[in-house]
Amino acid sequence: MAQRKTLARPFTRPNNAAELHCGSVSLVALAKRHGTPLYVYSADQIRERFCLFQAALEDREHLICYAVKANSTLGILKILAAQGAGFDIVSGGELKRVLAAAPEAVSRIVFSGVGKTAAEIDLALDEGILQFNVESEGELELLAKRAAKRKIRARFALRVNPDVFAETHPYISTGLREHKFGVDIRRARELYLSVKNNKWLEAYGISVHIGSQIRSATPFGAAIARVVELVNVMKKDGIVLKAIDAGGGLGIDYHAEVFNAQEKVNEYTSALKKSLNDFNGRLILEPGRFIIAQAGALLTRVLYVKKNGNKTFVITDAAMNDLIRPALYQAHHEIVPVLPRKGQVKPVDVVGPICETGDFFARDRKLSPVETGDLLALLDAGAYGMSQSSNYNTRPRPAEVLVDGSKVSVIRRRETIEDLFATEK
Ligand SMILES: *Cc1c(COP(=O)(O)O)cnc(C)c1O
Repeated sequence: MAQRKTLARPFTRPNNAAELHCGSVSLVALAKRHGTPLYVYSADQIRERFCLFQAALEDREHLICYAVKANSTLGILKILAAQGAGFDIVSGGELKRVLAAAPEAVSRIVFSGVGKTAAEIDLALDEGILQFNVESEGELELLAKRAAKRKIRARFALRVNPDVFAETHPYISTGLREHKFGVDIRRARELYLSVKNNKWLEAYGISVHIGSQIRSATPFGAAIARVVELVNVMKKDGIVLKAIDAGGGLGIDYHAEVFNAQEKVNEYTSALKKSLNDFNGRLILEPGRFIIAQAGALLTRVLYVKKNGNKTFVITDAAMNDLIRPALYQAHHEIVPVLPRKGQVKPVDVVGPICETGDFFARDRKLSPVETGDLLALLDAGAYGMSQSSNYNTRPRPAEVLVDGSKVSVIRRRETIEDLFATEK
């Protein structure tokens, strides 16, 4: 553990090996055995990141609920459940995934999302999840009805919108009044009071989630300070909340080779603790990206190198349907040749085969020479990679392998073309 503390990723060239490895396993060997495009994950790195949160909160009651939407593959959920993780879900489908991977973790599930259906609420009530993160007055009413009907007491937390600005991409910022998420913090007290005497609703906690890929600890601290203020006011109303859920959103560095994850987590949790002040109930966190992003890479093979005028296009067998982040959020992913060739570094566009100009991984990226058949690794692809993949252009989705020490397991087989039309008539 100590050695990797400041290295951002588990993808290295151990003992000056020519080939890039995941831990002790060569990516050349993995591509040969499992084909490309291929998602590769390091189990050690996933555990390591998760444990940083556990360790930083050792001194207080806490629950780390991994945000399933970042990467919902069963094999990944299993690793985290084995470490004692809880789960933050946003759909009935994600609930079924957690139940399939780790049924014993059901009592550690929090259910977020602005559009829960009655069927999803029923399923979650019947399974006995920990907490519903309620995002509107209408949802609170529906939850009360479904709970009464089933005679199951529902623990809920209002997700409040603290009106805190966090510097990130506009598509993944969620904590401002203009966003669709949560209820206005100024209305929350009224809502808690309105259901105070409802015997099927237990006001268990309160939650916030201000966005994703937030690099500074300051906005997290500011959001929690506002929440704690409200919690203290409500104590006088006789509403004593047991938990504060600070959401997820802690960002990583998609550029740097060195990244002190431990320092980041400590900075983040210190800011939260400072704002929590004298609240000594349970602190719930919902990190997704921070745990899984850097543990994964998308391995792809170069199909063609093509010149148009003075531009060079490197066309890979992976595309935006496999990893949409560059197209969707103008996101940066480091691209590393698995077996680098000697020669001058030149700017190229790395693109996929899909019929969209938005189908690119990088533009004017300086790469050492690449040729047809070469392997490239797109780094930090563990979060919002496979979980946002699609079958656009009738492309089967990639396989996923998990490297755990010297052991490699296929945690998802490659889709076949037949899989893609199996549901059609
Ligand atoms: C997406 C999401 C998360 C996880 O965000 P990360 O940036 O991946 O940590 C946590 N909580 C909620 C409510 C979310 O919507």
